Amino acid sequence: MDISVVIPLYNEEESLPELCSWIEKVMKDNRFSYEIIFVNDGSTDKSWNVIEELSNKSEHVKGIKFRRNYGKSPALFCGFEKAEGDVVITMDADLQDSPEEIPALYNMIITDGYDLVSGWKQKRYDPLSKTIPTKLFNATARAVSGIKNLHDFNCGLKAYRKDVIKNIEVYGEMHRYIPYLAKNAGFSKIGEKIVHHQARKYGKTKFGLNRFINGYLDLITLWFLSTFGVKPMHIFGFLGSIMFIFGFIAVAAVGCMKLYNMYAGNHYSLVTDNPYFYLALTTMILGTQLFIAGFLGELIARNSQERNKYQIEKEL
Ligand code: UDP
Ligand code: MG
Repeated sequence: MDISVVIPLYNEEESLPELCSWIEKVMKDNRFSYEIIFVNDGSTDKSWNVIEELSNKSEHVKGIKFRRNYGKSPALFCGFEKAEGDVVITMDADLQDSPEEIPALYNMIITDGYDLVSGWKQKRYDPLSKTIPTKLFNATARAVSGIKNLHDFNCGLKAYRKDVIKNIEVYGEMHRYIPYLAKNAGFSKIGEKIVHHQARKYGKTKFGLNRFINGYLDLITLWFLSTFGVKPMHIFGFLGSIMFIFGFIAVAAVGCMKLYNMYAGNHYSLVTDNPYFYLALTTMILGTQLFIAGFLGELIARNSQERNKYQIEKEL
């Protein structure tokens, strides 16, 4: 099979028939063999009935129905598990992404050899309150992930080589960082294609402004996991040692000052009257705590199923 289109959706009943017939038209015009996988993420409207109808009409339409709303990442995860095409396309169900882009995306994967191609909504039809934070968000994501050539990490329209989606695990709200996940899994040929974007025709957006706060937290988590996931001591031990040494030197200095003043016959007071003593003490305690966190991290990492999970590309 050439293409699997994976579409996560939550309460998008109005858009589905139009989206489905548009995709089918593009596929027929280009003679692709394909499947469309609708992942109904616990919609409370009639989305599932619509999917059932579409599936009865066309053998290409498949569906997954969650019992409740889990989020876009879990929906993508299950869609990816089911996908069989050589190239997997993800797109939003709200008709903001155009199926007309599919053939070009397919060619970039198959002919140009990209592992992953992300859409770039260069001209967006979203409110300003969304586009400005998005710019900031993408700049940070570029800096942290080291994928310098992507302008739009969170674009719903993306194309993947089958290997990519079978070897990464999207969970939580990590759908924003799939290119970063792919890069961490060793898929380095990541490209971008400018895509058309439209204003939402039906329904309303499912993500509020808290997407940016959560987005940043997830980015930090990913960075942490990819850098120190299997060697937590390297960060906790390092920070802990620095803090402890710093505190130790400071305590010693406070003590030496008092001894010096005693012998020199100057005025002196109890070390416990010196505020620096408490700061130094706290630093030493925190340093020790960080160090212990490092040990605990190592114990956890040792038990992790991921600890010896490597991407083996070929074997002879
Ligand atoms: N979506 C989903 N589960 C959710 C929230 C959203 O499957 O919990 C789907 C939604 O139906 C749409 C896509 O994810 O197909 C993108 O959502 P939306 O268009 O609301 O995001 P935006 O375009 O505002 O970033
Ligand atoms: Mg949308």
